[in-house]
Amino acid sequence: RSAALLARQEQRESAARTYPRHLPVALAEGSGSFVRDVDGNVFIDFLAGAGVLSLGHGHPELVACVSRQLGLLAHGLDFPTPAKDAFTEAQLSMLDPGLRDRMKLHFCGPTGANAVEAAVKLCKIATGRGDVVSFRGGFHGSTHAAMALSGLVAAKQPVQNTMPGVHFFPYNDPGALEEALADGLGGMPRPAAVLMELVQGEGGVVPARPDFAQRVRAVTRELGVPLIVDEVQTGCGRTGTWFAFEQYGIEPDVIVASKALSGAGLPVALILYNAVLDKWGPGAHIGTFRGNQLAFAAGVEAIRIIRRDGVLDNVRARGDQVAEALDVLRGHPWVREVRGRGLMWGIELADPDTGRPAGAMASAVQAHALRQGLIVELGGRDDCVVRILPPLNVTAEVVDTACSILVKAVTSCGP
Ligand code: PMP
Repeated sequence: RSAALLARQEQRESAARTYPRHLPVALAEGSGSFVRDVDGNVFIDFLAGAGVLSLGHGHPELVACVSRQLGLLAHGLDFPTPAKDAFTEAQLSMLDPGLRDRMKLHFCGPTGANAVEAAVKLCKIATGRGDVVSFRGGFHGSTHAAMALSGLVAAKQPVQNTMPGVHFFPYNDPGALEEALADGLGGMPRPAAVLMELVQGEGGVVPARPDFAQRVRAVTRELGVPLIVDEVQTGCGRTGTWFAFEQYGIEPDVIVASKALSGAGLPVALILYNAVLDKWGPGAHIGTFRGNQLAFAAGVEAIRIIRRDGVLDNVRARGDQVAEALDVLRGHPWVREVRGRGLMWGIELADPDTGRPAGAMASAVQAHALRQGLIVELGGRDDCVVRILPPLNVTAEVVDTACSILVKAVTSCGP
């Protein structure tokens, strides 16, 4: 049945599909950290809707809460509602009091890319400047500006010559941006913003070096350039703190969040930004789907559950468990690096002779893992990084099983 549904999708949907190219399964239902395909095969889901399902599939309390809200009010444009008010309050409550007092919130539309667009426009309007700096290997979404700002080039190559100008700097090179800004950017005007991820996710799970993130913050502050952190993937507890920037001792001017905000897979995206940037007017960033009451209700419930169940502690403990379980791969000749933060991990594979990214091997590892009942994702240059994004409430037992499958997959897939 999976094969039949895949064939029908291939026939009727555009060629721009992604996941089923590597993961040929048709999903029927999910529960916690597991999904079942239409043929009854059960998989551990360490993709979890690309990091969206922070409390797993079908969390009973989220299901109840969303059902209740659906009967009450599903959509509210940008009218004030009790659900929106509670969601806003809950989101702000996750920030340190000092930062919270300085921040405002804007709902941006359903996806991460919507929020990246809003963040960039906010900074352009506030500074009156036009250029934006971002980093090689970064990913910020598929809308026109968000894609232009992404350093991952494969998808944007066909449209690159029509994209707005962006200045890319090397990631994790503390001196490069500083030097360029000090030199007047080699003729480049002062930018409207610097946009960065604190762990590059699609780029292959590359955590920012603390000295790099701190230099970027210091330089941008010195020059009066707003710093936007894209926490679409790293946010909502993924790296063990609510936002990843908290671990770097830096304070951003704009925070972009989406994916796991509802905890339940419902679309919602927002920016939190320093009120001094609030120079845009009504209508500057609107959209029909900015009032998803189901996502708001779920998001409040998700934060309640995360606090009650100590989910962030679980992220840190399970993250340590993953680190320990994958440690045996560190000596493997094709494993260049195993790296991660919290429950966001990647195994980078490279040819030991040439040093080239081993995308084909990563694909084989993914396929091997799938056959053994584990869904994992790829990322990075030539898709050479095997990545995991488990639900944040995953149990030790499931992590144990998944990591043994992964280790076996890597050790048996070498050329
Ligand atoms: N920023 C980051 C860091 C992301 O990982 C993603 C999605 N993978 C996006 C932005 C875009 O989010 P969306 O796909 O919801 O537009």
